[in-house]
Amino acid sequence: MSKVIILIAPPGAGKGTQADMIEEKFGYHHLETSKIIEKNFLNADPDDVVINEEKKRWLAGELMKPSTFVPWLIEDIKNIVTNGQGLILSGSPRTIAETPAVLTALEESYGRENIAVLNIELSEEESVKRNGGRRICQANRHPIPNFPEFANLTTCPQDGSPLITRALDKPEIIRERYQVYWRDTAPVLDYLREHGYQINVINGEQSIEKVFSDIVQHLNG
Ligand SMILES: [Zn+2]
Repeated sequence: MSKVIILIAPPGAGKGTQADMIEEKFGYHHLETSKIIEKNFLNADPDDVVINEEKKRWLAGELMKPSTFVPWLIEDIKNIVTNGQGLILSGSPRTIAETPAVLTALEESYGRENIAVLNIELSEEESVKRNGGRRICQANRHPIPNFPEFANLTTCPQDGSPLITRALDKPEIIRERYQVYWRDTAPVLDYLREHGYQINVINGEQSIEKVFSDIVQHLNG
């Protein structure tokens, strides 16, 4: 089975949830972009001009510059491979600009034959529907997707805090994020295809369990 899983999907496809499920089933490490960024911001020198600039961009909802983010990601990849652990990437590469450096690090660490690419597909309408009804928990901001299986939930399954809806999850902003995915992230799939990678497409408009069983089937097949 592949030792690296790159998950690429539009907002609302549940890729974070699926990555967590893969982590749990196979003991792989789920490398989350937001956690890498938060950790490095926390450890940075408070007077570092470049980092402070990046912090501003990040807080405004913009992507970080690859020249700052990619070295952080590669450092984490190298640490994980040292432990001999498999890896799931759920938020990166997010743009063509990030892709060559990330791919080189993965190929050097794990070997090209051990890298699997999974693309969970979701229509714009479904993305809006799911994100639009998305809630987060008050205590830790755990996302609760708008799936039927969570409809009756009123408190966070992980910490018991109340669930709230954010203004950020407005339909027009979700449509924008979906367009950004098509403009910036979907071309990464073309890049990978051109470099000889097979893209395993999974229908994201199914239940969480069905999407997961399709993923497992791809990984075992
Ligand atoms: Zn929570």
